[in-house]
Amino acid sequence: MPNLGHCKCCGDKVSSEAASCPHCGQPEPYDDKWKYVAELLQQGDKVNAVKYVRESTGLGIREAINFVEKNFTRTS
Ligand SMILES: [Zn+2]
Repeated sequence: MPNLGHCKCCGDKVSSEAASCPHCGQPEPYDDKWKYVAELLQQGDKVNAVKYVRESTGLGIREAINFVEKNFTRTS
């Protein structure tokens, strides 16, 4: 069963077996580093999740927060 991860380009959800990202077209988009972000958020550690996204992508604080909220926060 394929793992669900996040695209290393756009950060959207993508299968580990996907040949390209269905959202942005990035080839071999699966990236484990976003799994770490998801794990931090599951632990309620949003501060470090945002920090990790910033370090990984070079985004500003506001962009990183938006990125985390858009791609990793489950809306119930
Ligand atoms: Zn993508």
